[in-house]
Amino acid sequence: MPRAGSRYEVVIGLEVHTQLRTRSKLFSEAPVTFGEKPNHAVTPYCLALPGTLPVLNARAVELAIRAGLATHCTVHTHSVFARKNYFYPDLPKGYQISQYEEPICTGGWLEIEVPAAGGEEPQRRRIGITRIHLEEDAGKSIHDESLFGEGTLVDLNRAGVPLLEIVSEPDLRSPEEAGAYLRALRELLRAIEVSEADMEKGQFRCDANVSIRPEGSRELGTRTELKNLNSFRFVEEAIAAEVGRQAEILDAGGRVQQATLLYDPDRRRTRVMRVKENADDYRYFPDPDLVPLRIDPARIEAIRAELPELPEARRARFEAELGLLPREAAALVRNRSLAEYFEAAARAHGDPRAVARFLLRDLLAALGDRQPDETALPPEGLARLLRLVDDGRLTARSARDLLPELLERGGDPEALMRSRGLEAVSDAGALGGVVEEVLREHPGEVASFRAGEQKLLNFLMGQVMRRTRGKADPASVRELLLRRLGQGG
Ligand code: ADP
Ligand code: MG
Repeated sequence: MPRAGSRYEVVIGLEVHTQLRTRSKLFSEAPVTFGEKPNHAVTPYCLALPGTLPVLNARAVELAIRAGLATHCTVHTHSVFARKNYFYPDLPKGYQISQYEEPICTGGWLEIEVPAAGGEEPQRRRIGITRIHLEEDAGKSIHDESLFGEGTLVDLNRAGVPLLEIVSEPDLRSPEEAGAYLRALRELLRAIEVSEADMEKGQFRCDANVSIRPEGSRELGTRTELKNLNSFRFVEEAIAAEVGRQAEILDAGGRVQQATLLYDPDRRRTRVMRVKENADDYRYFPDPDLVPLRIDPARIEAIRAELPELPEARRARFEAELGLLPREAAALVRNRSLAEYFEAAARAHGDPRAVARFLLRDLLAALGDRQPDETALPPEGLARLLRLVDDGRLTARSARDLLPELLERGGDPEALMRSRGLEAVSDAGALGGVVEEVLREHPGEVASFRAGEQKLLNFLMGQVMRRTRGKADPASVRELLLRRLGQGG
């Protein structure tokens, strides 16, 4: 199989739909719910009953402004809602209200971190954001034979739920970059409380536009659009599969046809669903039921002033003020709860780098799916645990072993260390005795070490560790052994 990407450059632009955190829908007072009985979160407007009219949700507008500011967009004081016309059973109005020629936000960017090979520090890149606009979600068609034979059922609970569509420039160059963009975007939207962006609840969905072009070419190739990718893994896999499909077409001298595709995760292949419709087919026009949206510039500035610290600013501060490596800072700000926990623990402990290393290596592994603030171990408790290690009273290994219980039940790390009998053996007296014993019992290994077999030091250390049941501080053991072995006695 031809290795895709070696002769072609991959070009990707993403369209993300994210559900806004509002209580009610975009144009009616119907509640935004999840798991509600079908058609129980609707008003006459959601059903498109004659005579009903849309009333814009002010909270949704505020959240759109926040998202625009956080992505460095221009937030327009004048924007227009447009009707996007198409027929589908789950769209009773026969059109979706969206924004088209005059969206609320344009021209921003999002910083992403591109994973580098082989332990290098990650590269950072700005991905252009073309536009952000408000629109309403459609309902849901349910095809379930056990419920309704061959027929289709329609649930309109989701019809009219407020969405933001965030459209990127075709700036992404690999499936991994697309994944990094989506993760950064989701984290940002959560940090500014614009969206919960829970993919499993359909609150964060992505369409990927993909094309390839010969290396060095400046012109964009013909793109295809992959619809409804609902996990990060599928986005990356689907793009990789589609790049392979397009490369095979070009290699065979063919042309890629602009089309909409679906991804089949079982076969790991993309499949053409329909040849692409054009914007013309939707007959967009300004919605006559809604006046243009006007936003007071003072309101935009007030919202800007209320924004919390954004992940990229936090990352820069962790590097500059706390002395973290770029890779450490980036890993911590990827998750707001982790970043805040880290800062509190670093403040309590005093050595941010030591705290960052322990968090990223040991705490993350012990956390599993939990967030640090959902556990019984407050950041100050973590700082106390690390201080026991600093003081040589607990080995790093034992600190790691205590984590699961501390996370589950909390309590004082020192008391737990004692009750488990894990206090480290590090004072030279107690440890010295054990070292003497080990040396006495292994005269052969001692002689070989002195004759130059360096690796026997590890064997002797292992013997001491075993006798102290892992409670000895490895650095002290090593130092004691070397001192004794160096003396020649
Ligand atoms: P539509 O609304 O019809 O899908 P847009 O012009 O809004 O079309 O573009 C949608 C997305 O497609 C954007 O994210 C854009 O960056 C991306 N895109 C446009 N041209 C290409 C291309 N040749 N290759 C990859 N992505 C592209
Ligand atoms: Mg599109």
